[in-house]
Amino acid sequence: MKTLLEVLQDAENRRVAVGHFNFSELTVLKAVGEAARELDTAVVVGVSESEREFVGVREAVALVKAMRDEGLRIFLNADHTHSLEKAEEAARAGFDMVVFDASEKPIEENINLTQRAVEAMKSINSAILVEGEVGYIGSGSELHDKRPENIHMTEPADARGFVVETRVDLLSPSVGTTHGMIPSMVRGAEHKRLDIPRIAAIKNAVQVPLTLHGGSGTDAEDFWKAIKAGITMIHINTELRVAWRTGLAEALKRNSDAVAPYKLLPDVVRDVKTVVRGRLELFGDSAAAAAR
Ligand SMILES: [Zn+2]
Repeated sequence: MKTLLEVLQDAENRRVAVGHFNFSELTVLKAVGEAARELDTAVVVGVSESEREFVGVREAVALVKAMRDEGLRIFLNADHTHSLEKAEEAARAGFDMVVFDASEKPIEENINLTQRAVEAMKSINSAILVEGEVGYIGSGSELHDKRPENIHMTEPADARGFVVETRVDLLSPSVGTTHGMIPSMVRGAEHKRLDIPRIAAIKNAVQVPLTLHGGSGTDAEDFWKAIKAGITMIHINTELRVAWRTGLAEALKRNSDAVAPYKLLPDVVRDVKTVVRGRLELFGDSAAAAAR
């Protein structure tokens, strides 16, 4: 099996993006695994600090390892890790990558903290990939009343300095998305729009793959343009959470007497899988076709 780094390099060469999906229980993980198997594609699953507090750090590693042993090309990311301690715990447990997130701090402090995290991660596992974040896109992959106001878009020169000094393997810039969705996005009445020239300028300034966080609710054509301009990994979380909640509510309503989870939850897996499949198709072959 290819390493995650090889999967990312292959995606860069083919002008497609690798899908990254968060999970905090088995239903969503199953849905992502089934979608990746049906489309025969590599996929990354992530657990943030809060998500892995619920799932369990070693449990997440064991679940993903079991799916890999069954032939899936699936990788595990310790998403949005704010402390060195939690990053080291994930690296020791066997995660494939860590997103070290000090993006709320001033850039000099962000650089210092991330630089130390990269060194610590690599001394635990030289093959682990570390992603850093420059700029700010808000927090919370949930439904918000309004879009966050303290967004800070990434300057290409800052991105370059950050990558050179920290030696991160991947960079997450702020280029138009925000974490979470607002109700009009869930209805499909409004979409997030991306700053494509900024993505191209940042990609030109750094030599590492770029990750787009907060992808839920983004305009489809902007996704294609962003991939063409240099985005190699795209995070989707809130869309899956919305599908999970809606699917679960409907399943419970339809089967008002049922109590066996394994009878109720397959419908939820199906609903979440539909969302994952749609995104993987858009990031993969559709993106490659749009780039031609
Ligand atoms: Zn994120």
